[in-house]
Amino acid sequence: MALIVQKFGGTSVGTVERIENVADRIKKFRDHGDDIVVVVSAMSGETNRLITLAQSIDEKPEAREYDVLLSTGEQVTIALLSMALNKRGVMARSYTGGQVHILTDNAHNKARILNIEEKHIRKNLDKGKVIVVAGFQGVDEDGNITTLGRGGSDTTAVALAAALKADECQIYTDVDGVYTTDPRVVPDARRLDKITFEEMLEMASLGSKVLQIRAVEFAGKYNVPLRVLSSFDEPDFNQDSSAKKQGTLITYEEDEMEQALISGIAFNRDEAKLTIQGVPDKPGVAYSILGPIGESNVEIDMIIQNIGADGTTDFTFSVHRNDFELAQNVLKKVANELGAREVKGDDKIVKISLVGVGMRSHAGIASKMFKTLAEESINIDMISTSEIKISVVVDEKYLELGVRALHSAFGLEQKIVEQ
Ligand code: ASP
Ligand code: MG
Repeated sequence: MALIVQKFGGTSVGTVERIENVADRIKKFRDHGDDIVVVVSAMSGETNRLITLAQSIDEKPEAREYDVLLSTGEQVTIALLSMALNKRGVMARSYTGGQVHILTDNAHNKARILNIEEKHIRKNLDKGKVIVVAGFQGVDEDGNITTLGRGGSDTTAVALAAALKADECQIYTDVDGVYTTDPRVVPDARRLDKITFEEMLEMASLGSKVLQIRAVEFAGKYNVPLRVLSSFDEPDFNQDSSAKKQGTLITYEEDEMEQALISGIAFNRDEAKLTIQGVPDKPGVAYSILGPIGESNVEIDMIIQNIGADGTTDFTFSVHRNDFELAQNVLKKVANELGAREVKGDDKIVKISLVGVGMRSHAGIASKMFKTLAEESINIDMISTSEIKISVVVDEKYLELGVRALHSAFGLEQKIVEQ
């Protein structure tokens, strides 16, 4: 018997029929003897519908009222799911964020959870009830309803699991786990049994959007075992007495035997790069280039600077494709002021990244990566590395080819070979 927090996303509760299926699943866990706290999202499309409603009245609605509106989506789901559970003879009670005292700061639309009082939940759990909590919402200290930002129900689930010291936080979604890469690009991508928090953060921030990134950070900080799994698969209680072998477990443990060099390949299609050439080189140049870019709220990803023989420097950086034009205009102004030779831009680039904690202890990963790309005649524009990641920027037409070649070069489609 375990205490499990189970979160069901919008697709999993997208229709009344699916809500009934979720109730069937929860009943199986209850029958198995587990204590269950459920967190649900709004039915799929509902939050978007509410946003459209708000914007049909005011393009920039008042933040407080916006949260009052947006939080209603989840309130519908908790009530319907609790009804479905009670109909099955599973005692259940629904709670809004405020009712279980999910205290947040007052940053409407992107509030952060400060505290959860678990004693109310405990009391009802002890009475054998399933607790059904609305995700994505809380209250500030004045009792105003707040919301946590899009995808925020994941964070609610993790925060509850941390507060209750749950055995596991299970995030049910429409995919059955985290994959070595996007299966739409590499059909024989493999589901990972385990991935570390660090790796998951790299995979998520690079575009494998299975989980809200804040939820992963939160889980890492409080060491909450987090499992991503499909709400369409049958729970399998025969393995290890619970459904624990399903999906992908995100954890701290780096299982030595199973340790892969590379866990996955993430990629990002939304990249663009800018180069300012022939800048007279002197102290403060990097700041005078990137300062104005930062001031216009453009986030910079990779940076390369190189000093030429003539004493001038070339400076290249990448930004989100949506910010390309804005950044280019700012850079042209800067180029004028600094007496630079030229500004060049390219918004037809992508970033491909190898991610794996195994990199820490193994040399030669980068050279294998570059060799693989060279064999496919893929030109590398930019390179950046961290302890557990190597990223390259290439022409967007090579995205599929590059990801497939790397996936196979690092043997990701096969069962990991023991070292
Ligand atoms: N319903 C909210 C959204 O669509 C929160 C969530 O689903 O996690 O962003
Ligand atoms: Mg979601």
